[in-house]
Amino acid sequence: MSIQVVATRALLAERLDAVRSSGASVGFVPTMGYLHEGHGSLVDASVACSDLTVVSVFVNPLQFAAGEDLDSYPRDLDADLDLCGSRGASLLFHPGVEEVYPEGPVQPAVPLADVALPLEGERRPGHFAGVAEVVARLLRAVGPCRAFFGQKDFQQLQVVRRMVVDLGLPVDVVGCPTSREHDGLARSSRNAYLTGAERAAAPVLHRALHAAAAAVAVPGWDRAEVEAMMVDMLAGEPAASPEYAVVVDPDTLLPADHPTSGRDLRVLVACRFGRARLIDNLGVVAG
Ligand code: AMP
Repeated sequence: MSIQVVATRALLAERLDAVRSSGASVGFVPTMGYLHEGHGSLVDASVACSDLTVVSVFVNPLQFAAGEDLDSYPRDLDADLDLCGSRGASLLFHPGVEEVYPEGPVQPAVPLADVALPLEGERRPGHFAGVAEVVARLLRAVGPCRAFFGQKDFQQLQVVRRMVVDLGLPVDVVGCPTSREHDGLARSSRNAYLTGAERAAAPVLHRALHAAAAAVAVPGWDRAEVEAMMVDMLAGEPAASPEYAVVVDPDTLLPADHPTSGRDLRVLVACRFGRARLIDNLGVVAG
């Protein structure tokens, strides 16, 4: 099936309004491009339950802080088109910066829920404000739809869920499982930054998450001990510089202290490997 590139909101709305007025459903997968199998799994999920799938590719300047990798962020639109077309997407929305921000440089104005404050919110000031701003603009451009996001960026997923409710957008947010390499490393566009030695070390993220899951499942577990154990595991790799390793409540992203047995919790890690700053997470159940 052939895929069509659309660069303006007006053309996108025209195409999607026509689709919806014939009773068909729209699935939407927002991305920053340089697509990999993880993005592909979101496209698959959308295609499986939508009549038409639109994928957006837009590297959003607003969510990069000064000194982050905006300029070097990897891009390959031809490969992105091939991936989306081969997985059954019908439209690729590829707007320029001036199409998304026609008023010029903007201050993000979308209100953020408290879930945006800890973890990535502390380490990347302004990041979630930029994410919320662009996702709100993209969701408004697409209109009523199911929108597919990866659990790989778990805090972002929770921020988007809250924002959609707070703004009353006509969107069903669907969280999709993390797609991983054979050795457990979560697929990420930023894995392209890893040297050979860093790539060999990076699966320690996944091992630390699973060790935490096993520890949390034992009744009487201690949050501080589990978090320290993860940091020790990460720091045991010379190529790794851990930033955080936490066990939290999945709704608030705040420390999970004294949870009752059987509670669903989330374990999240962030770690630098040379130029690459990688994040990962896992759902766990308290013992
Ligand atoms: P990005 O292009 O990195 O902004 O990601 C676009 C979407 O793809 C976000 O919803 C991510 O959470 C999701 N995503 C990125 N990596 C993965 C992965 N390994 N598995 C599943 N979803 C992913």
